[in-house]
Amino acid sequence: MALIPFQLALDKVIEAGAQHALAIESIGIEFAAGRIAAEDIRAPFAVPGFRHSAMDGFAIRDGRAAATNAEFRIVGQMLAGDRPFGALKPGEAVLIATGAMLPDEATRVVPREASHGAGKDAVLLDWGEGSPTHIRGAEDDYAAGALAISAGSRLGFAGLGALASFGSTQMRVAAKPRVSVLVTGSELVPAGAPRPPGRIHDSNAATLRGLLLGEDIDVAPGPALADDIGLIRAELLRACAQSDLVISSGGASAGVADFMPRLLGELGEVIFWKVAMRPGMPVLFGRIGSCLVLCLPGNPVAVVAGFLSLVRPLLRRMQGAPPPAADYAQLGEAASKHHDRLEFRRATVQIDAQGIQRAHLHAALSSGVLRSVVESNALVVLEAERQQWSVGDVVAVMRYR
Ligand code: AMP
Ligand code: MG
Repeated sequence: MALIPFQLALDKVIEAGAQHALAIESIGIEFAAGRIAAEDIRAPFAVPGFRHSAMDGFAIRDGRAAATNAEFRIVGQMLAGDRPFGALKPGEAVLIATGAMLPDEATRVVPREASHGAGKDAVLLDWGEGSPTHIRGAEDDYAAGALAISAGSRLGFAGLGALASFGSTQMRVAAKPRVSVLVTGSELVPAGAPRPPGRIHDSNAATLRGLLLGEDIDVAPGPALADDIGLIRAELLRACAQSDLVISSGGASAGVADFMPRLLGELGEVIFWKVAMRPGMPVLFGRIGSCLVLCLPGNPVAVVAGFLSLVRPLLRRMQGAPPPAADYAQLGEAASKHHDRLEFRRATVQIDAQGIQRAHLHAALSSGVLRSVVESNALVVLEAERQQWSVGDVVAVMRYR
């Protein structure tokens, strides 16, 4: 099978993600952190909904732009939460607290610091030309009907706060993808077990779990499966029956003990196999029944590259969200490659003292060196068609988080 261009693979992943869009469910907003909104949310009413004071001071009704030692009669007090006061007359002042509803007709609040001689009944107030009125409008936060949260956006703390300010208790979100991770490889031993000669500890299960946690998806991968076609077939079917997406690691290439391509063809449908990308070329994608299956090769860096470049956009699309926003950096070092595949290089991306985002490439090129991922925070994308990059050239980057 010929390699397909990376962009085509990504398009196919996104298309399948849209076809396998997840159900929509209504949940309590206390559980909505990290979830993807399934509908636009508009303010049901103006927030805060009434004019109130931004300062502790005196609310007055006075049209003058400035005044010094202006005397006002204190006619009452308004604390936060108090019921409406009614209207103020010219020359009257109300002692007011931050957050308290403004009396009708009040034109400004003079902060306590700009008052003097306050007695029980009267106070002298100063305000200057252009000084703020310290009045917060009824629609300062949201006008009724204003868009607060767009469908497809991920709910963070600010969105949750906005929803709470609307008095909402429930919201509609995309169901969380049910994801299973199948790790394969007869060489793998689990953490805690001894490591006989020729065997290695399974690191991909932990890496994938961490990557999925970054998407707010918590899975506990089982122990690695030996390269036994019967065993893998059974586990693949079991996982597909209870998942929206199965991610596998290992056994995706064309070796004698690589069973994923054959099994996916036998049990379901192969959408693509082998992408012009490095690392991760043997990546395999398809479906078994209503479950999508994305098989990553076993090399630890290929797992990271495949997850960030394909699985992450897929998971987001399944939940109705756009792919992660593009991010760019200037290369800190020159780079070159000698092939026409898209290449992901590990890099440390950071904003320097000049405010420029730079990507410093890690020296390791092997897809087997997980250390290079530990020592970096992003993948730099070197486009397929190009071979040479100079210092300062702008490249796309994908941050690990
Ligand atoms: P494979 O894609 O199965 O041919 O594996 C490619 C390379 O990745 C081999 O060197 C494997 O030993 C290694 N590998 C596969 N799975 C894992 C894993 N779960 N953890 C660490 N290394 C792995
Ligand atoms: Mg293998």
